[in-house]
Amino acid sequence: MAIIIIPFWMNDRLEEEETGKKLSFCPTCDREVEFSVVRVRRKRALNSVVTISNKDLGEFLVCPSCGGRFPYRPPPGYS
Ligand SMILES: [Zn+2]
Repeated sequence: MAIIIIPFWMNDRLEEEETGKKLSFCPTCDREVEFSVVRVRRKRALNSVVTISNKDLGEFLVCPSCGGRFPYRPPPGYS
């Protein structure tokens, strides 16, 4: 069993920003829906004040009907 120590003064939070809409096929709902295009960034903050890293996790399509998330575009530099 591994013990992971996370410094209490550091926290990661995900920041989501809706960048648009896109009509696409949802495999869960089995029909075309208007997805929300959501850009997700991970921010690591020191004492919730100073942002020391800002990682772009790429964009996701979020289905308004079932809440499913699908990768829209791989993040830059991702291979
Ligand atoms: Zn759906």
